[in-house]
Amino acid sequence: MLVADCEGKRIDAFTAQKGPTYSCPECRGEVVLKKGRKVVHHFAHKPPTTCTWATGETRAHMEAKAIVADALKTRGLRVELEYVVNTLPGDRRADVMAWSPNGQLIAFELQHTPIGIDEIERRASSYASANIAQIWIPFLSPKVWDEGYPHNGGWFVQRYTPRSFERWVHGLNGKNGMWMYDPKEQEFWLGRLASHQQYINETSWFSEGGEENFAGGYYKYSKRFRELTLNGPHKATDLRIAVSTRKAFSTAGYNWPAARIANLTLA
Ligand SMILES: [Zn+2]
Repeated sequence: MLVADCEGKRIDAFTAQKGPTYSCPECRGEVVLKKGRKVVHHFAHKPPTTCTWATGETRAHMEAKAIVADALKTRGLRVELEYVVNTLPGDRRADVMAWSPNGQLIAFELQHTPIGIDEIERRASSYASANIAQIWIPFLSPKVWDEGYPHNGGWFVQRYTPRSFERWVHGLNGKNGMWMYDPKEQEFWLGRLASHQQYINETSWFSEGGEENFAGGYYKYSKRFRELTLNGPHKATDLRIAVSTRKAFSTAGYNWPAARIANLTLA
């Protein structure tokens, strides 16, 4: 984690110095400041710990939070890492919270690991109820680079299997598309999913009466695959935030609340 408590105050691992005692805002247990060369500065729980904030955190996730926060700070915005929103279900921390100049709160959810549809819908509804704008940014899987190819100045994957939460995020954003993060290059891509058509091969067989029958020989929409178009890459510092509102909508298996959503736009 990137933020700890020190003498009653929140402090991030970048400004913290070795010496004082730091504690976890969740379990109050002692955490150790890690200022290494390779890994982003962070706090780690002293083992053993049963704290839920001590598990599941990856270096890539911490890096992504730091990159987004730095870019927003450079623009003069108030920014808090791992900001606690008391009404959030489950982990009450937004990865990054920003305040627009007119006071609009904007939560960044950098999704390194898959999240269940129920959970993402509960979280999204919670942000919406609190009038906090939200943006969900899935991490790109390395498979995307193996399975795709350069196309129109961007990247194209013809047979992409979106994870359920990615379909949900894409649906939340509608025509804005879905921003995605490449942890290897630390860059952002604007992704769009489109229907993928599969060609069903023509087959023929003879019925008992000796007539020849034909089937196939046409395209059908794939349920599993989508075409993924990625536009980019872009550095976090090249992106600006635009907030808009969307109406509630439901479709088979997915629900989106009426919400304020944040979109990234090119400067
Ligand atoms: Zn803890």
